[in-house]
Amino acid sequence: MSDVKIRDLTKIYQDGDDEIVAVDGIDLTIDDNEFVTLVGPSGCGKTTTLRCVAGLNKPTSGTITFGDREVTDLPVQERDIALLFQDIALYPHMSVRDNMAYGLKIRGFARQERYARVEEAAKLLQISDQLDKSPAELSGGQQQRVALGRSLVRDPEVFLFDEPMSDLDAKLKAELRPVIEQVTDEIGCPTLYVTHDQEEAMTMSDRVAIINDGNLEQVDPPKVVYEEPDSEFVSSFIGQPSTQFFDGRLAAQNGSTSLTISDMEFDLSMSSADLNGYGDGEHDVRVGIRPQHIRVSDDASDGIRGTHILDEPLGDETHSFFDTEFGEIIVVTDPAFEGREQEYGLVLDESFVRLFDPVSGDRVA
Ligand code: ATP
Repeated sequence: MSDVKIRDLTKIYQDGDDEIVAVDGIDLTIDDNEFVTLVGPSGCGKTTTLRCVAGLNKPTSGTITFGDREVTDLPVQERDIALLFQDIALYPHMSVRDNMAYGLKIRGFARQERYARVEEAAKLLQISDQLDKSPAELSGGQQQRVALGRSLVRDPEVFLFDEPMSDLDAKLKAELRPVIEQVTDEIGCPTLYVTHDQEEAMTMSDRVAIINDGNLEQVDPPKVVYEEPDSEFVSSFIGQPSTQFFDGRLAAQNGSTSLTISDMEFDLSMSSADLNGYGDGEHDVRVGIRPQHIRVSDDASDGIRGTHILDEPLGDETHSFFDTEFGEIIVVTDPAFEGREQEYGLVLDESFVRLFDPVSGDRVA
């Protein structure tokens, strides 16, 4: 087995006279047996990156290496990859068993070995009782399991997924997520998984790579990108409901720091030396805090003043919406909370406040 190294990968498409920079100098290593998810909004360059790794797109510049072997210019059939798309494309006239065994057949494996591997994979995928059916008799989720099985029996060098679950409903997605994790773990090769769904990225990955406009913003384990985002973009993209933002002013002097939001002043526990790139003096900042870390107080003079708009009860928690001088703010409240049409105080838990540069979006503290 081997790792995948993507180095300074750039892909520029030509659209008439216009150049579209889809991927802008990405560096990413996926270790052996590591599951890395490439996540970001539509058009940010996820699929282009994956297609370059697969050999379906030719990079404009940069290199891709599998272990010691540079594959940048190799065609897809010389790369030993398994590739799963949203379109499953099983052979309709073959049984599930033969669909799963087909890749082994064209590689010259004997019938007994082919079917033994299929039986073993089917057990892991919980489709042993479906092997004699035709693909048309299966649900979308079962068809995706068969496609996974086809890759599993082949034991590829690199596993690539391009939004494989985007056609499935939430329940099927939740069922298939652990199956994908088990299969990739069983194969034990580097896995690159592309999705725009941050929940998929957070639940399945060893590391999450967040891409924005062709650039990688952060590559870290799920807990780190959630708790310690490197940028305003990462903070707003990861987590549900999204991070809430306020404009604030940071004053750093003689080693201590204070933050003003509206007419509230907080003494921050960090020292001015901890401020990333900011020295002493006053600076405008973007203040980000997750809706889980805002408390609703009956006393409107406590924290940020907000008029209650509505509650969305979700069973285990409620999302409560408030109109404030900073626009609409969402707070995760207790399921027992039922807001009245009145002003409340929204109190920020200082230890979870994150500060960002208002121009670059980079994390300040
Ligand atoms: P989505 O989630 O919508 O698939 P993505 O993050 O996968 O988006 P890409 O498909 O990689 O993004 O596209 C990145 C950019 O490159 C977009 O601006 C897209 O319009 C452009 N692009 C992609 N393929 C081509 C192409 N063949 N020719 C010209 N431009 C392209």
